[in-house]
Amino acid sequence: MENAPSVNFKTLWNQVVSSLRAVVSDEDFESWIEPMKTRPAPDGALEITVPNRLCASWIEENFLDDISTAWTEASGQRNTLRLVCDEQPAQGNLFADEPDKASQKVRKPPARRPGGFLARYDFDNFVVGPSNQFAHAAARAVAGQPGALYNPFFIFGGVGLGKTHLANAIGNAIVDSDPNARVLFLSTDSFTNQLIDAISRNRVQEFKNRVRRMDVLVVDDIQFLAGRERTQEEFFHVFNALYDSGKQIVLTSDKFPNEIQGVEERLCNRFGWGLVADIQSPDAETRVAILRRKAQAESISVPDEVMSYVASQIDSNVRDLEGALTRLSAYASLNRSELTLDLARELLATSGGNGQKEIGLEDIATGVNRHFGLRPGELAARRRTKKVAEARQVAMYIMRNHAGASFPRIGEFLGGRDHSTVVHACRVVEKKRSDDPRFRDLVDTVTRMIGCG
Ligand code: ADP
Ligand code: MG
Repeated sequence: MENAPSVNFKTLWNQVVSSLRAVVSDEDFESWIEPMKTRPAPDGALEITVPNRLCASWIEENFLDDISTAWTEASGQRNTLRLVCDEQPAQGNLFADEPDKASQKVRKPPARRPGGFLARYDFDNFVVGPSNQFAHAAARAVAGQPGALYNPFFIFGGVGLGKTHLANAIGNAIVDSDPNARVLFLSTDSFTNQLIDAISRNRVQEFKNRVRRMDVLVVDDIQFLAGRERTQEEFFHVFNALYDSGKQIVLTSDKFPNEIQGVEERLCNRFGWGLVADIQSPDAETRVAILRRKAQAESISVPDEVMSYVASQIDSNVRDLEGALTRLSAYASLNRSELTLDLARELLATSGGNGQKEIGLEDIATGVNRHFGLRPGELAARRRTKKVAEARQVAMYIMRNHAGASFPRIGEFLGGRDHSTVVHACRVVEKKRSDDPRFRDLVDTVTRMIGCG
C-alpha cells in the first residue's frame, strides 16, 4: 500500500515542510511542524497524525491554513487534509478510535442546542470564584425563573472572562427544564446580519415577529450595536415587545450599559433596567481550579506544580489561560515529552507569557481605527467601504503577525468573520506590502504606533 505513491508523497511533504519554514517562526517550526507525522490516505488526502484531540485543536487553530496552502501549492491540486487522532486506545478496545471517526471528531463544528445555544457551555462546567460568584448566582436565578426576576439580565466583563459561557448556560438550563421553551441565542452580529438579510428581502416584520415570539432572547456582545443605527432601531422595538410581555432578555457586553458609545441613550438606559452583573478577572485559586477542570475534561494529566505555574503566569483572562494549557499539553504530547515545570517555564517564556507587555487585539483595533479615522466598532461591523475593508485587512494582518492570534480568533474578534476571510486578508496585505513601498510604510507605521513593531 505504501510503495510508489509514498515516495512521491515524501517528496511532496518535504516541499511542504520547506515552504512552511519560511512562513512560521523558528520556534513554531521546531515545536510543531518538524515532529509532525504525516501519511497519504487511500483517497489522496494528506493525513496528519497527532497524539490527541488537544494537539489537533492547537494545530488546527494555528497551522492548518498554512499547511493547507503549502500542501496545495506543492501538490498542484486542492487535496484534502485531515487531522487524525492517534490516542492510545483503552485496553481491550483496540479499535475504539478508528482514524476516520477520530478525524471527524476533530473537524466537527461545536454542537448547538435548540435556539442556537452552545452545548459545551453549562452551569456544571463553570467554575465559580469570587470574581464571578455574583454573576453566576444571578444567572442561575434567571434560568430558574425566566422573565420573573431580573429583566433584562445584563452580564458585563472583559474579554474571555466567561460572559458567553454564562449566557449559554442560562439558555441550556432553561431548555433542560422545559424542552418546549422558545429560546434564541444570537450574537449581535447575527442579529444584524439577519436583519440586513430581512431588509433586502422585504421581510423585516417577519424577522421581528420571529424574535418577538421567543420566551427567552439572549444577545451576545451587545456593544457591537455601536454605530449600527438601523439595527439599534429594530432592536429597540424587539426589546420593548419582549419586555412588555415579560419575556426574559439576556445581554452580554464588554462595557457597562451607560458606557457603550455609539448606542442610543434610550437603549443603553433600558439595558440597565434589570440587573447588571459584572465578571472580574479570576483570582489565583480560581485560575488553578479552572485549569484543573479543563485538564479533567480533556482527560489529560497535568502536574499540580505546572498548573500553579500556568495560573501564576497567565492572569489576563480565562481564554488565554485555557489556551496556555492546551498549548503546553499539545506540545508535550506531540514531542513525546513530559509536561514538567521546566518545560512549562520554557514554553511560556518564549511566548511572551511572562513580563513582556502583551499587545491585545483590542489595542490593535483601537490603533487601526484611530489611524484610519474610523469609529469604534466599525472594524467589526458589516459595512464594507473601501476604506473600512482596507483597515480591517491591515488589522487582521497585525493581529496575526504581531499579536500571534489565531485566524479563527481574529475572525471571531472582528465581528464573527470566517477564518478563511482572515487568511485571505493576511495574504493580500503581505502581497501589497511587498509590491507597494508606500503601503508597506503605512502598515509599518500603524504597527509601530500601536506598539507592536
Ligand atoms: P467572553 O464571552 O467573556 O469573552 P467566554 O465565555 O467565551 O468569554 O469564555 C472564554 C473561555 O473561558 C471559554 O472557553 C469558557 O468556557 C472559559 N471560561 C470562562 N470562565 C470560566 C469559568 N468560570 N469556568 C470555566 N470555564 C470558563
Ligand atoms: Mg463572548
